[in-house]
Amino acid sequence: MSIWIILVFIPLLYGFYAQIKVSSAYRRNVQIPSRGYITGREAAAAVMESAGIYGVQIVEVKGQLTDHYDPVHKRLALSSPNYRGTSLAALGISAHEAGHAIQHREGYAMMGLRQAMVPAVQFAAPVAYFITGFGLYTIGSILGGILLKVGILALLVMTIFQFVTLPVEFDATRRAKKQLVSLGIVDRNEMPHVSETLDAAALTYVAAFVSSLGYLILLLLAGNNRRRDWPIVVFQKKPDSKGVGLFYVFLYM
Ligand SMILES: [Zn+2]
Repeated sequence: MSIWIILVFIPLLYGFYAQIKVSSAYRRNVQIPSRGYITGREAAAAVMESAGIYGVQIVEVKGQLTDHYDPVHKRLALSSPNYRGTSLAALGISAHEAGHAIQHREGYAMMGLRQAMVPAVQFAAPVAYFITGFGLYTIGSILGGILLKVGILALLVMTIFQFVTLPVEFDATRRAKKQLVSLGIVDRNEMPHVSETLDAAALTYVAAFVSSLGYLILLLLAGNNRRRDWPIVVFQKKPDSKGVGLFYVFLYM
């Protein structure tokens, strides 16, 4: 099997699979109302209150799955169906975002590290994919060699960022599940629907990391061989997206 199939094509498929899975899990569970009829907004407030957090503003935002916690402005943003809705998907996602607020308050180290990397990632993301692509295209030339090195460095930043994101996301989900049950917001037998939604969302972060890592290894191999005999296919989750972002796909032949 060609090396690029393992390092790029399989992660690409895995990414699409994760994207489809999170969309379908959300669509299904957003239609299942919780028995307590508590809204996502109320659930987020209750979870934060139980951790002694009162200074975080909960706001409603447009879009689908645009939910996020903004540590800079201490703002918890929930998309309309999750802000107003009482579905098990809404409660899961709202509690997950509240989990990020608790991480922030507790000074959770991985979250601090992730935040500190954001400016570097905003710079590295376009560099990693565009410059690297041209670097590979012109591989063997002096310019190609320089571009490839810059691209590898940028991609390394991205890969580390996505790796650091994993414990932050898994920890927020773990906190959400625990708090929803212990605060009596969700019944234990309703939890599978909450878990299905949150676990599917977590998968997209894993896919983003795996794709970056695969591509990074591929670039390192290309840099050593000074040639390539495979098409370049790159996909990447929108790097600054807090929820479930779009995948960019680049193809260089
Ligand atoms: Zn999250």
